[in-house]
Amino acid sequence: MRPDRLNPLFAETGSLKGVGPQLARPLEKLGLTRVRDLAYHLPDRFVQRRVVTDLDAATVGENILVALTPLEYRSSAGRGPFRVMASDAAGNVCALTYFGRNGGWAKKQLPLGERRWIAGRLDQFGQTLQIVHPDHVSEEGATALGQVCEPIYPLSEGLTQGRVTALVNQALAMLPELPEWIEPGLFARMGWPAWREALQEAHKGEHREARERLAYDELLANSLALMLVRNANRARVGVPLKGDGRLRAKLSLPFGLTGAQKRSIAEIEGDLAQPSPMLRLLQGDVGSGKTVVALEAMLIAVEAGAQAALLAPTEILARQHHETLSRMAAGTGVTIALLTGRDKGRARESILMGLLDGSIDIVVGTHAIFQDAVTYKNLAMVVIDEQHRFGVGQRLLLTQKGRRTPHCLAMTATPIPRTLTLAQYGEMDVSRLDEMPPGRQAIDTRVVAVERMGDVVGAVSRLLAGGGQAYWVCPMVRESETDDIAAAEARYAELRELFGEDVVLVHGQLKPELKDAAMERFAQGQARLLVATTVIEVGVDVPNATLMVIEQAERFGLAQLHQLRGRVGRGSEKSVCLLLRGDTLSETARERLALMRETQDGFHLAEEDLRLRGGGELLGTRQSGDTPFRIATLDQIQRLLPLAHDDARLLIDRDGGLTGERGEAARLLLYLFERDWGVQLLRGG
Ligand code: ADP
Ligand code: MG
Repeated sequence: MRPDRLNPLFAETGSLKGVGPQLARPLEKLGLTRVRDLAYHLPDRFVQRRVVTDLDAATVGENILVALTPLEYRSSAGRGPFRVMASDAAGNVCALTYFGRNGGWAKKQLPLGERRWIAGRLDQFGQTLQIVHPDHVSEEGATALGQVCEPIYPLSEGLTQGRVTALVNQALAMLPELPEWIEPGLFARMGWPAWREALQEAHKGEHREARERLAYDELLANSLALMLVRNANRARVGVPLKGDGRLRAKLSLPFGLTGAQKRSIAEIEGDLAQPSPMLRLLQGDVGSGKTVVALEAMLIAVEAGAQAALLAPTEILARQHHETLSRMAAGTGVTIALLTGRDKGRARESILMGLLDGSIDIVVGTHAIFQDAVTYKNLAMVVIDEQHRFGVGQRLLLTQKGRRTPHCLAMTATPIPRTLTLAQYGEMDVSRLDEMPPGRQAIDTRVVAVERMGDVVGAVSRLLAGGGQAYWVCPMVRESETDDIAAAEARYAELRELFGEDVVLVHGQLKPELKDAAMERFAQGQARLLVATTVIEVGVDVPNATLMVIEQAERFGLAQLHQLRGRVGRGSEKSVCLLLRGDTLSETARERLALMRETQDGFHLAEEDLRLRGGGELLGTRQSGDTPFRIATLDQIQRLLPLAHDDARLLIDRDGGLTGERGEAARLLLYLFERDWGVQLLRGG
């Protein structure tokens, strides 16, 4: 249970003064449902404003506070902005511009003929002065006037800077004093403020130390929680699995294993022999040969008289794995079954029976293999493919099937950088397949200006005519997924006109059956051109596909481009990847595309991706969707996570039950960052 002293922080925002249902909705949109969320709703930036009475005295680009009287509303046709024309005391006219809004909100704030104080950045549009999305509109200028350094918060429609500032201040006033959870030596060395002070300072100005401390807290909470999972797992009873090698000896592989594969298998074998269940991540680029490693691991389990299961994220991948594994293991006499949500009636019954009586050694499938109805005779090992689709919570659930905790091997094809691996899989041991099987042909990667679309279509046409297959990736770039799908559908229609029945379309809003059917047609070679949004990132192995076209490649991150490109270059034929780019490229976009041309090493690209996105700016970018963090920036993650990780480990080694003085404080931290599943494990033991 959450400690009482934190309760005020977890009170709903509705309990604050001045928050009714009207305000609750836009707050919720920003994820601000509790007092705690407001306190952690950190400003994007701070501005220094100048008060001007006459717009003539202000310069374009300046942050100003000015009294204006609205004269007229102007809505534009279509998707254009809504404008409120207003004038200052000297009669200068300025437009207050609102994009993507119907004007209702602006009208309410800016009644015609009534003077308002407007704070914002003065801009120019043609000959007209304008302020786009003013930061403040208020009847009284005095509150804003009083602030020299003013926080600018992320907003949603229906909120104003003034409102959010007032609510944040209410939340800050409610912060309790909490004991320190940071290791005293580190705390002193860093010169960080205490928790409450840090939160208060972070809202008042660009206090680097305060921001650092708050980021560190978040990282520490995450590391602690993962460490607790790790500890709890160690304390669980598993079945030590020692294989005698008899099945593995019968594997007839058409190739020798790479050094990295051998090393990983040895690491897994070492884990399996232990009584505490394995929790290991196998990280390896697309094509690095994870499947055979998984097979060897599962065979160890079978040699030891147990069953193994392989969980895939989609039906089609499950089927593909089943085929591959069955082929590779043909000479071993091992029984490998496939179970997906599609199996019904007799077929399903017979598989369930086989799992129960132990006549099935290995089962491959989707989530269906973990449904309650499925009972295993002796499941001792679980392989999870494409790990990144699961959160830690789900991971925990999966491994709780059965009386004894099975050994768990998670596999991911996303070669994320070391620091992020720590953040996301800190509770696991990691094996890396950092060596590609020999004889892989480099993928010929070229950056092509979009004006040369005609040539690109020509290349596709020649390839298809010669019996080849290709991918065509449409980007996810617009505001809404629906727009993206519309764009993909338009492209699909065009290509279909050229290539007819050979073309199929796959996107995220397609019904799973339809998506699977389209993928299947492509995999079987019936369809020759697969037009897709980024959904093809995961999975499918079609060695005959040797060309990939990626539209607006500059919009993708490096990791994503790499992941996409990995779909080609899987057969013996030379493969080509064409990165279509627009006219205007940012410096980083240029660098990204150049890197794609230069290297195919996923781990290298992942590190570079982090570097390019990390930036060094003070407030940084927080919205990076691939980290589990909301406060810590990529830059802070890189610098502070290793510290937090070590700190967490030391604390858990010393006080695994978190019962000491610092341990108690650390519990507060876990609740504060809602990593309390970590604490829950303490009790469950
Ligand atoms: P991943 O799942 O890591 O993307 P796969 O396991 O599908 O990669 O392997 C990709 C391809 O490489 C498969 O065709 C596989 O048979 C082949 N392969 C795996 N290991 C080796 C190896 N050591 N030498 C040559 N080919 C290999
Ligand atoms: Mg794979």
